[in-house]
Amino acid sequence: MECPMCGGKMKRGKVPYFHNRKKLGDFEADECTKCKEVFFTEEASDQIDELAGGVKDELVEETLRVAKEAEEKHPNRRMALKELKDLAEGRK
Ligand SMILES: [Zn+2]
Repeated sequence: MECPMCGGKMKRGKVPYFHNRKKLGDFEADECTKCKEVFFTEEASDQIDELAGGVKDELVEETLRVAKEAEEKHPNRRMALKELKDLAEGRK
């Protein structure tokens, strides 16, 4: 298989995938030996989509919990969504 980006040689191997700074795992992918571009296999992409979706939902739920707590503790203070997300991420 040739790299669609540069035509270089591809090497099949396991590549770690990160989502929101969290490692989802190692997945089967073709890595270009020339430009280092990584192409996950279709199967790996499906797995990543599934796992990334799960991570996203978890983070959204945690963010909502943090937002509710913050509102109870500081009813007059409005927190930015980014601030809440950072808090939620830090708690996991
Ligand atoms: Zn390439």
